[in-house]
Amino acid sequence: MPSLNLKSTILDHQDFVRQVYGLNNDRFFATPDMLIQVQRFVMRGLKGIRQEDKKKTTLNLLIALSWFISLMNQLHINVQEAAWNRFPGRCSCCGKCPCICRKEKRKTRKRIIVKSGKAPRTIAGFQKMFSAIYPPESRTKEQAGIHLGEEAGELAEAVLAYRGNREGQDFESIANEGADFLSCLFGVCNSLGIDVAKELAHLFSRNCHACKKTPCECTFSFIVQFRS
Ligand SMILES: [Zn+2]
Ligand SMILES: [Zn+2]
Repeated sequence: MPSLNLKSTILDHQDFVRQVYGLNNDRFFATPDMLIQVQRFVMRGLKGIRQEDKKKTTLNLLIALSWFISLMNQLHINVQEAAWNRFPGRCSCCGKCPCICRKEKRKTRKRIIVKSGKAPRTIAGFQKMFSAIYPPESRTKEQAGIHLGEEAGELAEAVLAYRGNREGQDFESIANEGADFLSCLFGVCNSLGIDVAKELAHLFSRNCHACKKTPCECTFSFIVQFRS
């Protein structure tokens, strides 16, 4: 019975989503459809920030994250690897931990050499790493939310650019933008004190969170109308 726990890795999450939602995803959803689901649940999560409803933000961001994982699965992108390549314990832009981009008003990206063997092993470890690079006290939760919105848009641009020409360079930018998206999703969760691994383990304690089956037996109309 597929489930997630406090020690699950990002790859475990990818496996879980593949087992539980792979069938429905393959049958029901093309890449742009999945992108819409990612955007839809991110925006609902942001609505929760505006309404100061942490529970709403939590559930919607977890579902946005899981749609993001579905999208990355369809494109065969290893999210754990993409996240570590982009954020090897440091900001992808200034190369520092904690990030000093705001202080230095930095616009250009520094190239960072990945040191092997130090990547966090679990989802919780990645959340902690992002908290060290981007300390939540350095910005408001609204600022973190706006940044997540920006990155969701950039992810969409990268996916649509790749679908325009199917070239390797554009494919690479999906992995990079995906990593940025993930970092901002963790950023919002750090700002709100949401423990991603704990909440995922709760939501996905067994099978699909809605129908409780593997593979998920939720109907297409239920999925696309699902609100939380
Ligand atoms: Zn930085
Ligand atoms: Zn289901």
